[in-house]
Amino acid sequence: MLPALAATLALAACQSPGAGRPVAHPPAAVTAPQSAVTPERVPACAEDATVMEGWNERAPPRRIHGDTWYVGTCGLTSLLVASDQGHVLIDGATEAAGPHIEANIRALGFDPRDVKYLLNSHEHYDHAAGLAHLQEVSGAPVLARAPAVATLRSGRSDRSDPQQGVAPSFPAVARVETIADGDTVRVGTLVLTAHATPGHTPGGTTWTWRSCEDGRCLDIAYTDSVGAMSDKTYRYLDHPDMVAAFHRGLDTLAGLPCDIQIAPHPGIGELFARLDGKDGKALVDPQACRRYAEAGRARLEQRLDQEARGLKP
Ligand SMILES: [Zn+2]
Ligand SMILES: [Zn+2]
Repeated sequence: MLPALAATLALAACQSPGAGRPVAHPPAAVTAPQSAVTPERVPACAEDATVMEGWNERAPPRRIHGDTWYVGTCGLTSLLVASDQGHVLIDGATEAAGPHIEANIRALGFDPRDVKYLLNSHEHYDHAAGLAHLQEVSGAPVLARAPAVATLRSGRSDRSDPQQGVAPSFPAVARVETIADGDTVRVGTLVLTAHATPGHTPGGTTWTWRSCEDGRCLDIAYTDSVGAMSDKTYRYLDHPDMVAAFHRGLDTLAGLPCDIQIAPHPGIGELFARLDGKDGKALVDPQACRRYAEAGRARLEQRLDQEARGLKP
């Protein structure tokens, strides 16, 4: 998929609405026992699905690299980063997806109660609505940057969200704690770093960490959505601070350690095809974050140009 097309789809994806059997808790949770993998058969995701499809459909859980696991749905990413001293779970997808994510964690042989922190890419329902359920089953707090906190606590965005007028509300998250740009989240040997990448929403956050498998350690970047899009009334030109922060976030994205880039919508960047090595697509691509940032910047420039010419979104 062309980066420009992928970016367009990413924008569309973020705009429109759209239990498994427990297994024994593994002694060394980071290594999921083979026997525990997917005890109930989860059908594969449709290969020809668009970025807008499969949001509430459970995807087969699978390893991405080392201690990083895909536990989301066919259309929305959720990642478990596991260690033998506890885990970190990133993104809750939709409300309907929450129990699917829980089932996927269990199917891999992990115990949701070992999740110590819940993280979020951005405060829209398609990435945050499942967090309330996942907090209930894990007891873990959600960590978010300050501009996302009120929205996560209430389930409603305010006017600082360019999409406020079209963003569906979602179940409020009871426990949200504030983290800052550059903060690290540590559990056992895991170290995940928060990077402020606002613009699509004010609280948008990108996460990076390192995962090792058979002695091969790779930098993983969970890059937040970068689509400059809005409801009918928001104008980016009226919010120069937001635009400046958007640009800084894109600069950050372009320079991230980035062996494996993963987006909140798995169709953006063709994650499943890359995991399968389909059509020679590579999972490891150190240039992917830079291209992702460039596509986001091109879209932002286009959006600002349209606003300057008086075109309505
Ligand atoms: Zn989205
Ligand atoms: Zn969004």
